[in-house]
Amino acid sequence: MAPADGFLPADAAALAFLMDSIRDAVLAGASGDELASITLPASYRAAVVLKEEAEMFAGLESAEKDPRRSLHVREVPVPELAPDECYIAVMASAINFNTVWTSIFEPVPTFGFLARLGRESVWGARHDLAYHVVGSDASGVVLRSGSAVRNWKPGDRVVVHCNYVDDQDPTAHDDSMLAANQRIWGFETNFGGLADLAVVKANQLLPKPAHLTWEEAACNALCNSTAYRMLVSRNGAGMKQGDVVLVWGATGGLGGYAVQYVVNGGGIPVGVVSSASKVKLLQALGCGAVIDRSEKAYRFWSDDNTQDETEWRRLGRDIRALVGEDPDIVFEHPGRQTMGASVFVAKRGGIIVTCAATSGYMIEYDNRHLWMKLKQIKSSHFANYREAYEANRLISLGRIQPILSVLYPLSRVGEAAAQVHGNRHEGKIGVLCLAPSEGLGISDHELREKVGEDRITAFRRLEA
Ligand code: NAP
Repeated sequence: MAPADGFLPADAAALAFLMDSIRDAVLAGASGDELASITLPASYRAAVVLKEEAEMFAGLESAEKDPRRSLHVREVPVPELAPDECYIAVMASAINFNTVWTSIFEPVPTFGFLARLGRESVWGARHDLAYHVVGSDASGVVLRSGSAVRNWKPGDRVVVHCNYVDDQDPTAHDDSMLAANQRIWGFETNFGGLADLAVVKANQLLPKPAHLTWEEAACNALCNSTAYRMLVSRNGAGMKQGDVVLVWGATGGLGGYAVQYVVNGGGIPVGVVSSASKVKLLQALGCGAVIDRSEKAYRFWSDDNTQDETEWRRLGRDIRALVGEDPDIVFEHPGRQTMGASVFVAKRGGIIVTCAATSGYMIEYDNRHLWMKLKQIKSSHFANYREAYEANRLISLGRIQPILSVLYPLSRVGEAAAQVHGNRHEGKIGVLCLAPSEGLGISDHELREKVGEDRITAFRRLEA
C-alpha cells in the first residue's frame, strides 16, 4: 500500500534492483518475453512538481521563478495499467517548454488539469494526485501492454508522442486534435516522460528511429510533430515549394524543425535568432537568410501598451533585403512581443500560423493590415496521430534531423528546465533516464552513416 502522500522510500534497495534489472535487460537487447518476465517495481524515479508548492512563487516575476526549486526527483508508486495503455521503460526524455510552464505554475498550476481528468473516468481518477509527473517526450521500450492493446508488445523500441485522446469520444475522429477531451501527456495528464517509467496510451506510440541514440530519438516527437502540422499538414499552413517562411526562434525547439521542413519542402526560410552562434547554426542547417534580432534590436513595443509600426516596417524591409519579398507564411510562437509584427510583415494573402505565446498571450495586432490584405491567422496545437507518425517517419528516414544540443541526467532535471526557461539553450535539451550514458540505442548503423554523423549531431557539436 502506498503512503498517503504517494511517496515511497527513495533508495529502497529492492526497488533499485528491479529497475536495474530492467535497464540491464534493455541494454542487453533482451527479448520481449524476457522483459515481460521481469517483475515490475512498486515505484519508480520521476520528476515531479508538488501541489503543496503551487503557491511557492507567488508575487515573483516569471523570470524569477526557478524550476530548480519546484522540480523534484522522487520515488512514486507505479499506477495500475488501463487496458489501452502500456508501461514504457524510459531510456531518455527531453525538456519541453510545457515543463517550464508546469514548474513555474504559469499561467495556471497544472493540478487543475489533473483534477478535471480525474473526474472523467475510473482510469482518469488515477491522475488526480498531490504530485504531477511531468514530461511530454520519451524514448524507450515497451514493458507491458494492456489487454486491449493490439499493435505494441513488450520489447518494442518506441518513442512517445504527447497527444492523449480517448478514441471512444466521437469528436476524436476526423482530426483528434479537435477532440473535446484532447490533452497533452505529461502536462495535462500525470505519469509523463521525465521518469524511469511512463504510462502511455497505445495510440501514443511510434517506432523508434533505428539510426538514433535513445537521447536523439527522445527529443523530437513534441516539437517535430508540432512544426510538421504547422507547416506541412493541410491542418496548418500547407506550405508549398517556393513559399517564403519567416521562422521566429529558428534554432529553438520548434524553429529548429520548422527550418528543416522549409528547406526540405522547397521553401525559402528566413530565420530569426538572437546570437551570432545561432546565426552560424542556422546557416549550417541550410538557412541562408538569417536575422539576428539582438543585433537589430527591434522595439516592436515602445512601452507596455504601445506598438511601434515603424519597427514592424523595419523588420519587413530587412526580410525583403534578404529574400526580395514578404513572407507567405509566418511561423509564430513568441506571441505578444512579435504578433503585431508577424501580422504586418506577412504577404498579402499570407498566413500567420501560431501555436503559442511565450512572451504573453494577450495579443495585439492592427486588424486593418489583416483584413485589407486578406491575411489569415491560423491556430495550431501539437499534432494528431497521423501527423505525428508522418513526422516521425521523416526522422526515421533521416530526412529530418534531431536537434539535441545538451544532455542532463534526470537527477538534474530542474537545471535543464531552468536553461530552457532562461532561453540559454539551442534546439532541444535531452535528459537521460534509464540510459546510463549517451550514445546507446543505435540499431541501424548503416543508415546512420548514410545520413551522416555531422548532420545528426549538428546541434550537439555546437555545445561541445
Ligand atoms: P524554445 O526552445 O525556448 O525556443 C523558442 C525560441 O523563441 C527561443 O529560442 C528564442 O529564440 C525565441 N524567442 C523567445 N522569446 C522571444 C521573443 N520575445 N521574441 C522573439 N523570439 C523569441 O521553445 P519551443 O520549444 O520552440 O517552444 C516555443 C513556444 O511554443 C513555447 O511557449 C511552447 O510552450 C510552445 N509550444 C507549443 C506547442 C503546441 O503544440 N501548441 C508545441 C511546442 C511548443 P531567439 O532568442 O534565438 O530568437
